Amino acid sequence: MSDCCSTSSVSKPSPGKYRCPVNGQNYNQVPLKTVVHHIKEPWHWKSKTQTYYFCDDPECNVVYFGDDNSIITCDHLRTSVGVKDKTDGATICYCFGVSLKDATQDIYIREYVTRQTKDRMCHCEISNPSSKCCLKDFPKS
Ligand SMILES: [Zn+2]
Repeated sequence: MSDCCSTSSVSKPSPGKYRCPVNGQNYNQVPLKTVVHHIKEPWHWKSKTQTYYFCDDPECNVVYFGDDNSIITCDHLRTSVGVKDKTDGATICYCFGVSLKDATQDIYIREYVTRQTKDRMCHCEISNPSSKCCLKDFPKS
């Protein structure tokens, strides 16, 4: 098992990046498993043998895109994507169901989530549509 919550990988140039066909920025790949867990009616979705990527730009409606420039937008998902939701009800932690509002009102929640991730109780790779650990999305106290 890789460490889904390591925070080391932000700035190193990654060969696994690809350009979002809508906003033109480069984004990291996500496991196919993650896409399948968030897309609506996955039994109707024809995934291809290719890599998929996650666009985290709040202004871009694309959530996932593939090497073939096919896109999957917010409307195609059954999960509301926290980084694209500008309300304070935006989900930031999918493992434990924490909204931005919760995290802002109770700073203890961040501690709780940190402890759970240390004990490997989190499941960010699947639960979070970005496939990344949510701790970076918590408001700084
Ligand atoms: Zn995009």
